[in-house]
Amino acid sequence: MSNMINVKIDNVPVTVESGTTILEAAKQAGIKIPTLCFLKEINEIGACRVCVCEVKGARSLVASCVYPLDREGTEVFTNTPKVLQSRKTTVELLLSNHDQNCLGCVRNQNCELQKLSLELGCDNKKYAGEKTEYPQDLSTPYLIRDNSKCILCRRCVAACEKYQSVSVIGANARGFDTHIGTAFEKDLGDVPCVGCGQCIAVCPTGALRERDEIDDVLADIANPDKYVIVGTAPATRVGIGEEFGYPIGTNTEGKMVAALRRCGFNNVFDVDFTADLTIMEEGYEFLDRLNNGGKLPMLTSCSPAWIKFVEHYYPQLIDNLSTCKSPQQMFGALCKTYYAEKIGVPAEKISVVSIMPCTAKKFEKGRPYQNASGYPDIDHVLTTREMARMFKRKGIIYNELPDEQYDAPLGIGSGAGLLFGATGGVMEAALRTLAEVLEGKELTKLDFTEVRGIEGIKEAKYTLAGIEVKVAVASGLANARKLMDLIVAGKADYHFIEIMSCPGGCVNGGGQPIHDAYTRNNVNIRELRAKALYSTDVQMKLRKSHENPYIKEIYDNYLGKPNSHKAHELLHTKYVKRGI
Ligand code: SF4
Ligand code: SF4
Ligand code: SF4
Repeated sequence: MSNMINVKIDNVPVTVESGTTILEAAKQAGIKIPTLCFLKEINEIGACRVCVCEVKGARSLVASCVYPLDREGTEVFTNTPKVLQSRKTTVELLLSNHDQNCLGCVRNQNCELQKLSLELGCDNKKYAGEKTEYPQDLSTPYLIRDNSKCILCRRCVAACEKYQSVSVIGANARGFDTHIGTAFEKDLGDVPCVGCGQCIAVCPTGALRERDEIDDVLADIANPDKYVIVGTAPATRVGIGEEFGYPIGTNTEGKMVAALRRCGFNNVFDVDFTADLTIMEEGYEFLDRLNNGGKLPMLTSCSPAWIKFVEHYYPQLIDNLSTCKSPQQMFGALCKTYYAEKIGVPAEKISVVSIMPCTAKKFEKGRPYQNASGYPDIDHVLTTREMARMFKRKGIIYNELPDEQYDAPLGIGSGAGLLFGATGGVMEAALRTLAEVLEGKELTKLDFTEVRGIEGIKEAKYTLAGIEVKVAVASGLANARKLMDLIVAGKADYHFIEIMSCPGGCVNGGGQPIHDAYTRNNVNIRELRAKALYSTDVQMKLRKSHENPYIKEIYDNYLGKPNSHKAHELLHTKYVKRGI
């Protein structure tokens, strides 16, 4: 039975469950207490001291994010002069050892430190003095670490450990020398980081950011010898609007297409098309493994941080991975082969840009066995955030654009392909196709709701044409690890497992728009974005990958059949064992 108590926050009476933190109770009283280090469930450490409050009778200020209210009648004061002065001094001290180059910072106007400094009326030069010099870590193709902008909140450390069970970053040294780094101060590129970018997504400042490729893309567009094709991942269309003031969970696909066209791309295509193709290739690969004693459970292969995770941490399961390239890589492969032939442009003149909700895709494009045409399948990867910055640089008035449609043929995707953007989506898309292929008749119900939802691990059993298929779906690598440990221990009897590296899937990818901690703590961002994908799928006429007319066309006229020799040459890949 819950134990309710009555307390007062700034003289406002509230009734809360005993143990509720001051931070939570204050929200009930209509008061937002500022925080910097706090992230619900993963980083409740009371370290930054920005959220301090006065509790009547207590000798010192308390950290409201971890202070539990458990006494009837407790009185809390959240914004007395003493509290406000303490917060101000804390932030001024942070600024004293901070590279304050806001004008050139990627997080300018979306920075929790900058906002707080302004709100608290800080003097950014109050404690000017010695600053620690840090070289930037430029060792990976996906992420830049800049400790001169780090405020030691440790949110990145928590995300890497709790969401991903990777734990390659932590606080090194002590006192004034404390900094975020890797074991033995190695470069990030030399430790088993998987490139997911979840650390960037939670960072309140510009200390972590993606490696920006906008200049490279704009240079290719400006080059008259280049034919530049762009393709967008499913989850980007339900993220990009947030960069232009739309509510979280708004699908602005039509405006995104129009904006990309105005950037000067020769074609605007949709990676949903190759998500459909992935379903064909992966679905038939699964049937082959099922019928011919192949390695099971088969593990999906579209999430590149997950692939890197297996290569580092579960190399013994590499043969369980589907050999299918990811939709991004299939897209690039087809642009430079099938489509290049269609338009009569040689592969070396084509530049393929993919827009992804993901930072690990920047790593994936440089992987071995990803150059079907003899040239890299993909030339440049922009995150959803970079796409927004590119639109702003190009002066595009996003909100006033008309809705436009993708180009054919590689711009036509089904609802099944669209669902790749949410955890469970690949499995649901595959089941729609597998059920019809195995049963040989049209499905009456298309929604496989058992594999939907944003929980970490889901499982379900389906009987398809008399064959019982047991499936599992996990998102967040900490959850994936649980499933992999079961497989390694011989305790799992699944046939097919979908893994998405980021919690909730690509809608919550490390390249999606960043929201401050207050929003992250109080709004279910990933659920709202996933809902936008599901509601779009329901409204689409084309909801099954195998019914996409352009997929049929590419098999009839180019690839032959799923898993054909040619399909294998262009659309499948190999993996490598990496150390830890
Ligand atoms: S991290 Fe924030 S405060 Fe620091 S330079 Fe960037 S925008 Fe300014
Ligand atoms: S990219 Fe992912 S794995 Fe690498 S440090 Fe960040 S959270 Fe950890
Ligand atoms: S890198 Fe960002 S998230 Fe990590 S401790 Fe520094 S400021 Fe916090």
